Amino acid sequence: MNRTRLTPHPMDLPPGLTSIREAVRETPVRATCDVLVVGGGPAGVGAALAAAQTGADALLVERYGMLGGMWTAGLVNPFFEATRNGWIVTQIVRRLEEAGAWMPWRWAYTFDPETMRRELERLMSEAGVRLLYHCLCVDSIVEGNRVRGVVIESKAGREALLANVVVDCTGDGDVAARAGAPFEFGRLGDGLVQPMTLMFEIDGTGDFAQDSAAALFDAMAQAIEEHNLGVELPFGRANYVPWLIALPAAGTAAVQLTHVYRLNPLDPADLTAGTIDARRQAAEAVKILRHVPGLQGVRLRRTAAQIGVRETRRILGAYQLSLDDLAAGRRFPDGIASCAFGVDIHEPAPGAGVPSGHGATMQPYEIPYRCLLPADLLNLLVAGRCISGTHEAHASYRVTGTCVATGQAAGLAAALSSARNLPPSQLSGPSLRAALIHLGVALP
Ligand SMILES: Cc1cc2nc3c(=O)[nH]c(=O)nc-3n(C[C@H](O)[C@H](O)[C@H](O)COP(=O)(O)OP(=O)(O)OC[C@H]3O[C@@H](n4cnc5c(N)ncnc54)[C@H](O)[C@@H]3O)c2cc1C
Repeated sequence: MNRTRLTPHPMDLPPGLTSIREAVRETPVRATCDVLVVGGGPAGVGAALAAAQTGADALLVERYGMLGGMWTAGLVNPFFEATRNGWIVTQIVRRLEEAGAWMPWRWAYTFDPETMRRELERLMSEAGVRLLYHCLCVDSIVEGNRVRGVVIESKAGREALLANVVVDCTGDGDVAARAGAPFEFGRLGDGLVQPMTLMFEIDGTGDFAQDSAAALFDAMAQAIEEHNLGVELPFGRANYVPWLIALPAAGTAAVQLTHVYRLNPLDPADLTAGTIDARRQAAEAVKILRHVPGLQGVRLRRTAAQIGVRETRRILGAYQLSLDDLAAGRRFPDGIASCAFGVDIHEPAPGAGVPSGHGATMQPYEIPYRCLLPADLLNLLVAGRCISGTHEAHASYRVTGTCVATGQAAGLAAALSSARNLPPSQLSGPSLRAALIHLGVALP
């Protein structure tokens, strides 16, 4: 049995010890596959389904006991960019519609998260994707600059998964970062990332219809003052928060309100502090909402299992998408997905009156395949919110429909490169674009 031993005994350790040396170990290989997708959020679902539907033997590994990422563990609603994004989004939407778990909401759509979990599992099973839940990917296996697989940790211990191509859909770019890919973190200048938000659901909303974020902010501020509630809202008056997002089940809503600032979502101590603070904010918010006309009957149903992380690593790829590209509505010969969502930056430091994205303008734009190819690494693709882009551009393409679309493109590319025994970086971007258009992705 392979053990890491501390010598001398822990009680005798010298003060100031900052690391220990682990024993060299043999790590059993649990599985091999053509395409390994790490992370089962919107991007991972897109990647695994696209790879398997193209004929690859696809394995998806996920740390939680569910698919959906922010859609389900994070209770994020609504679904933005649900149209024009190709066949995988269409399959998901159709399933939710058939289950009566999908409805239009303002300029987007909302869904029932429990139905989402179940329908995603059905889609995976029908496509033949192998699923492995409850496994955290903790390291990448790299030979030279070639990614060969990942190391996972679970109740079964530490094991390896090997693949021809790996697709990093962890949101945080864990696989790419552990393989040595360069990345950026936060905005230029102070390195701050967007605040985290613990989503929660309420019931008892009746037929309350919210006009705007500012109108609900004003109503809550008035309730605090008139009823001497002795609490503060965690953010200033802005155009993007708070929102009560009506869900398909009558009288229920997802609430986008709590905000925790200046924390590092890659640090478990910060995640813990942020989660506890945001859970307190959620309970206080419900007390305030009960004094807002039309919302007297609301109750807290549940907070999300996972605090919402908007931004962490942005892996640097062969191309970095920028605000200029968005402002120009740029198209690319290797464009593999499009996005028409605005630049939605929740101010990294709390401030009143700052409009989302500082009022940055954009036009529908494309995302080039090169943003999915981490610099200097072979056999690895990234998809979802960790692709290569600036802090500002990321604030647009991070929405879930676009993440499915980059995942779909990465899954197709991974399946093709595995079948042709070529690294993804040697696939032709324009040919991939043509294949995606052929499969119904609306790229002009
Ligand atoms: C509070 C909040 C509100 C938002 N509101 C909206 C909205 O209204 N509409 C919208 O469309 N988008 C919204 N977004 C953006 C959107 O939810 C995310 O950008 C999107 O979910 C990112 O998709 P992803 O697949 O890249 O990552 P995620 O959804 O984060 O999924 C990553 C998956 O990988 C798993 N994982 C991570 N690390 C590991 C590891 N090391 N090993 C194994 N598994 C791992 C996670 O458990 C998760 O399932 C919001 C985001 C937040 C945080």
